[in-house]
Amino acid sequence: MNDYRKFAIGQITSRKRKYFLGICALLLVGVIGVLIFCTNIFRNNKSETANSTSNQNSGSAILESETLAAKKQIVCLDPGHGGSDTGATYGKISESDINLTVALKVKAILGDLGYQIYMTRSDDSFVAKRARAAYCNSVNADILVSIHHNSYETDHTVDYDTALYYKDSDQLLASSLLNSTSAELNIKDQGIAKFDNSLLWIAKMPAALSESFFITNKGEYSSLISNSSTRLSDEAKGIATGIVNYFVNPEQIKTLVSQDSLIIDRTDLGD
Ligand SMILES: [Zn+2]
Repeated sequence: MNDYRKFAIGQITSRKRKYFLGICALLLVGVIGVLIFCTNIFRNNKSETANSTSNQNSGSAILESETLAAKKQIVCLDPGHGGSDTGATYGKISESDINLTVALKVKAILGDLGYQIYMTRSDDSFVAKRARAAYCNSVNADILVSIHHNSYETDHTVDYDTALYYKDSDQLLASSLLNSTSAELNIKDQGIAKFDNSLLWIAKMPAALSESFFITNKGEYSSLISNSSTRLSDEAKGIATGIVNYFVNPEQIKTLVSQDSLIIDRTDLGD
């Protein structure tokens, strides 16, 4: 082989190597491109999955709270007194009558919201307190709300809202009732107070007595005997709101335990 051919063959070999290297470089660029493309798709998929997971999470939280709100809790409503036991009386007003009026209004509001309501009495009949608590236990009520109104014979300016509890597990319910009735009625919130009462201690579930205002107060009395008064409807709305909040927004309930001496002027301490 002469030098020229050697040179020519050398040229060809070197050109082939260049082509080979060029193709390799292109392939490498292609592979890197494909890798980047695939990585991006993977990343996008991952973030979409994360988004959909977080959407699912917030969705399930809403669903849970809706389920909670829609769950048919059992509420035992107890209109205090009745029959021969009128409770407090003042002028034309008997506590037993207005307790029943308010309880029936609460029943209507909560019934529309899907709660299961039981009543310890639905008319003007006498039922002993122990029998009322036993009845609420027998229907496996989630809560017992006893509706009363306060009275103070010797001072007709006294008026405030309170709720009474006995067990520690009653406090949240009593507070929720008091928070919403005092707001709805625009009346002084006196705080909740412990009350040794057979209805409250026989009840196996959280139970509370609502005492939204004094029927012996001049202003309350004038309002109650007026046909245009919305006082009892407002009170029922407050009690119903307190019950709903107890189940749905328990973390928002403020508890204030009364430090004052409470005026409890009651005729039903016996049974
Ligand atoms: Zn009473």
